[in-house]
Amino acid sequence: MASTPNIKSGRLSKQEIDSNFGDLHPPLSRSEALIAADRCYFCYDAPCTTACPTGIDIPEFIQKIRSDNLRGSAHTILRENIMGGMCARVCPTEVLCEEACVRNTHEDKPVDIGLLQRHATDPVFDQNIQLFERAATTGLKVAVVGGGPAGLSCAHRLSMLGHDVVIFNRDSKLGGLNEYGIAAYKTIDNFAQTEVEYILSIGGIEVRNDAELGNTFTLDELRNDYSAVFLGVGLGSVNELGVEKDDLPGVLNAIEYIADLRQAKDLSALPVGKNIVVVGGGMTAVDIAVQSKRLGAERVDIVYRRGAKQMGASRFEQDLAKTSGVGITFWAQPVRVLGDDHITGIEFARTELDGSGKLVTTNESMRLQADTVFKAIGQKLVANTLEALEIEHGRIVVDAEQKTTLNNVWAGGDCVVGGDDLTVSAVQHGKLAAIAIDRQLRC
Ligand SMILES: Cc1cc2nc3c(=O)[nH]c(=O)nc-3n(C[C@H](O)[C@H](O)[C@H](O)COP(=O)(O)OP(=O)(O)OC[C@H]3O[C@@H](n4cnc5c(N)ncnc54)[C@H](O)[C@@H]3O)c2cc1C
Ligand code: SF4
Repeated sequence: MASTPNIKSGRLSKQEIDSNFGDLHPPLSRSEALIAADRCYFCYDAPCTTACPTGIDIPEFIQKIRSDNLRGSAHTILRENIMGGMCARVCPTEVLCEEACVRNTHEDKPVDIGLLQRHATDPVFDQNIQLFERAATTGLKVAVVGGGPAGLSCAHRLSMLGHDVVIFNRDSKLGGLNEYGIAAYKTIDNFAQTEVEYILSIGGIEVRNDAELGNTFTLDELRNDYSAVFLGVGLGSVNELGVEKDDLPGVLNAIEYIADLRQAKDLSALPVGKNIVVVGGGMTAVDIAVQSKRLGAERVDIVYRRGAKQMGASRFEQDLAKTSGVGITFWAQPVRVLGDDHITGIEFARTELDGSGKLVTTNESMRLQADTVFKAIGQKLVANTLEALEIEHGRIVVDAEQKTTLNNVWAGGDCVVGGDDLTVSAVQHGKLAAIAIDRQLRC
């Protein structure tokens, strides 16, 4: 990639990069936290708790912050969501708990629930305070495939319930997209691994990294060797643009680039283009665009085929892109990549909705100059090892307790039908599956 003209490292100094990749939402001081906590009305039947996919008792944890009981507050959070530390950093709170906060109607500003959650949980990770212990061992072993939020949450809850767990993980580090995907400025200082270590410190969880379902072992083997299996394999492959010349050097997979960025020891050494076009409208599109800009790209444009309201990225994320200097063009979809031996640009057809609400292209087109085009148009399940399961819309079918159609196999996180592709939802799926597995194993 570095051989393509205009793609080079060192566009910004190390100091500039460090400042660009600092904490997006710096933590609250004690006095700021007390002021923020004082704004909570401690609603009965709190709508924020209902809006949190993991059902954290938000008024309870905020009340404990007010009485200086941070440890109790962290327990309230982590007993429902063992990744409450990461979720405090990455949840799109503006469409979850904070959207539901009744302060919005009175003052147009919710209680800072995410920041308060971080205030309560940070000391637990900083000081490695163990808040949970294992129940008496059941002697039963459960296999968890995938060490992302879904798998880790499932493993932790199973361990709390007394089961022994083996996590089989394709990557060489645990954490899934917390480690390899989420924007670097949302989770600084290696927090993903701090959280993983905390989760494992409960005991009873064996980890086998670089172990891939379908390559190192099969689902049938796990079903024979373990009392139950949980699948939290995420979405391992990305959608292609499917247009002329989309294989030219310079057309890149946003997820792979972000993984390299997240693992880079020195971000100023990462090659980045001068003119970048991102195709897509979700969180990945915003993340790659903002991070490219913060690495020193001169011009970054997101192009999305529908309008602002339909964008998967929230209003906050869209604003973050704009304030970071990223341009967003709506209602256009790619028709061809331009260039011969490397890309020079990309052509789009303008789009609109026809009378029946179907997206169609118009006769208008536009071209953008580019040395890099990032594909950020969604991921898909690698389903070829999962033929025995029912798959719908490219994802695994599960019931309300995360059970698949196969006996003794549960699944959760991004790989299942009906999710919203958020860390917090993956954590909830893992937790629900562990509770259901425990119930079945005790019958
Ligand atoms: C770029 C990007 C940014 C995002 N930003 C946010 C955000 O800001 N906030 C938010 O809430 N959500 C965000 N998300 C979504 C969030 O990261 C996911 O919803 C969440 O990580 C899903 O968790 P998971 O455990 O289902 O899967 P993953 O996190 O994808 O983890 C899957 C795990 O399974 C392992 N695995 C895969 N295949 C196999 C196999 N065959 N055998 C064994 N192991 C396997 C992998 O090694 C990995 O550890 C983002 C996603 C992306 C792509
Ligand atoms: S986990 Fe996320 S949605 Fe739930 S209370 Fe915390 S920040 Fe809000």
